[in-house]
Parts: sequence; C-alpha cells; structure tokens
Amino acid sequence: MHLMKNFILIKKTMSKKILKNDKYKKARGGYSRLLQICCEKCGEEICLYQKDGPGVIKRMYIDRMIEPKVSVSNKNLECPNSHTLGVKYIYDKENRPAFRIFVAAITKKIIRTG
Ligand SMILES: [Zn+2]
Repeated sequence: MHLMKNFILIKKTMSKKILKNDKYKKARGGYSRLLQICCEKCGEEICLYQKDGPGVIKRMYIDRMIEPKVSVSNKNLECPNSHTLGVKYIYDKENRPAFRIFVAAITKKIIRTG
C-alpha cells in the first residue's frame, strides 16, 4: 500500500518534469496530456508523447517525443518491428520538425493530464 503510494507520487513528479510549457503549448490552449504511443499493428511502444491541446494526433512533433524507443532521425517513423507509422516533414506554420502519422497507425494511452 505504502509502496504503491510512493510509486504513484514519483511517477507524478517525473511526468510533471517532462511536460514542457512553452509557446507551442500556449498556442494550443495551455494544457497537455502525456500519452504512451504504441504501434497499432504489434503493440510495441514508440515513445511517450506530450499532446498539447484538443484533437486527434495527425502529426507528432519531434520536440514532444519523450524517451523514444525508436530512431527519430530517419525519414520514416518505424516501430521496433519495422511497421511504418509516419513520414517526417516540417510543419510549415511553426517551422517545426514532425512526423505525419498515418491514419490508425498508432494507439495511445493517457498517462497524465495537466
Ligand atoms: Zn509495429
């Protein structure tokens, strides 16, 4: 019981630290969710992801990908089992590197809101 409580506390503190609070977050209403992103086909974890504001994930900004389990330096975003999930491009409006995510290529689980 005690251990569980401590664990949750540590987890909360850690994810609070990872969530970025910057102009991108402000431009999207000032709130974020921390998501765990997995491959839809095989379920392998890709990364944690800070999703700013409402709406579905159509692109993943590279500066919001936390602890990626796969390379983000290639043109394609691939899961550890080589399923292609998206293609790198620059999001014009913010001149910000991102992956355009294919429809239904990923699944997400909410880790934390804030
Ligand atoms: Zn996969």
